[in-house]
Amino acid sequence: MARENYWLKSINEHLAYLRKNSWYYKDQLVWAGPEASELAELADIRNFPFTEKDDIASRNEDFLCVPMEKVRDIVTTSGTLGGSVAIFLTEKDLQRLGVNEAGSYRLAGCSSADTFQLLTTIDKRFMAGLAYFLGSNELGARMIRSGPGALQLQWESIQRFEPTVLVAVPSFIPRLIKFALDNGIDPNKSSVKKIICIGESVRDEKLQPNYLAKQITDKWNIQLFSTYASTEMATAFTECQAGNGVHLQPELMFLEVLNDEDEQVKDGESGEVVVTPLGVEGTPVLRFRTGDICHYYDEPCSCGRNTPRLGPVVGRKQQMIKLKGTSLYPNAIVDELNSMKQVVNFVIELHSDDLGLDEVVIKALLQGENAQTNVLDHLSGKLRVKPRLILATNEEINRIKFDDNERKPRILVDLRS
Ligand SMILES: [Zn+2]
Repeated sequence: MARENYWLKSINEHLAYLRKNSWYYKDQLVWAGPEASELAELADIRNFPFTEKDDIASRNEDFLCVPMEKVRDIVTTSGTLGGSVAIFLTEKDLQRLGVNEAGSYRLAGCSSADTFQLLTTIDKRFMAGLAYFLGSNELGARMIRSGPGALQLQWESIQRFEPTVLVAVPSFIPRLIKFALDNGIDPNKSSVKKIICIGESVRDEKLQPNYLAKQITDKWNIQLFSTYASTEMATAFTECQAGNGVHLQPELMFLEVLNDEDEQVKDGESGEVVVTPLGVEGTPVLRFRTGDICHYYDEPCSCGRNTPRLGPVVGRKQQMIKLKGTSLYPNAIVDELNSMKQVVNFVIELHSDDLGLDEVVIKALLQGENAQTNVLDHLSGKLRVKPRLILATNEEINRIKFDDNERKPRILVDLRS
């Protein structure tokens, strides 16, 4: 069946399921009017309402489509209104999650011959760690759940069980390398050949290895694979060996990438990622607006697959800032600061000034001569903006970065009203 026909059939089944089982979508689909009954062609999807993260947060229980006794796992993700949003998974959803992550592993060229080491949290109500575990099980491969941190345990596991693939947050890897080198271990002689990177991209906007990737591969001859996913999606995009963006798994999700007028962008353009995960039973969503801005590619990939791909997240839709007539996403500033040796530590705050205009304040710990001037010159050269730069101590920066209520450090804090 052609891919378009598959999507058409699957989305219509999805809509029928929502009408029957979702308190939230029963209302939404009635209000959307008669055009929003069925899709005759894929383009008709535009007649259907979007789902925002706030919608799920404010009516969380109404998104649950099954009686609680069918729920097997409950995960949460941070909400935009404070507090967290719950996603309920049934037995079928757990199977789907495994199929999805097995597909991710295959995209990265992995097979049942591989042994994986999971350097990320599998508990704390997270979905990702569980998904990668279910995926290796589905693939018929082995998994060592070493978890985050614990440098000694990581290397002991690598030397003892000889994993071929790590699943990890990439910014942890330089610490892993340093520990090895400090303790007389040569990472290049280890069994590990690949790292599947979660939570952060290892590519820049042009799909070239970014500063973090180079920091890793300068010392460790290893293949890095970017991924992109969120809890609401319950589906992962993963890079193939060609590294031309992360591939959609078309049997599991329908993808739209929309411009400011909510129209699908063309190959190479960027827009907001909007997803409709298919075959989800517990907490299904329709046209979920991720708020993530990515480049979209639909030319066939050199790996032979012709599935749509996404570049790294270049920004969050809500975080777009306008500075003296220049629009940019703060992630661009993060990338530049990460690439500068004179910047030891930093956090970026977004404020609005007295006139309601956006203001970017970088609080940074710098080192070396003329650091402040060099950093500002570098930013104005690369991004054509000169943000405010306030020198701060490590403690001051980390107090902002590591908020107790957040599970991940915050590099970007949006304080705009
Ligand atoms: Zn490919």
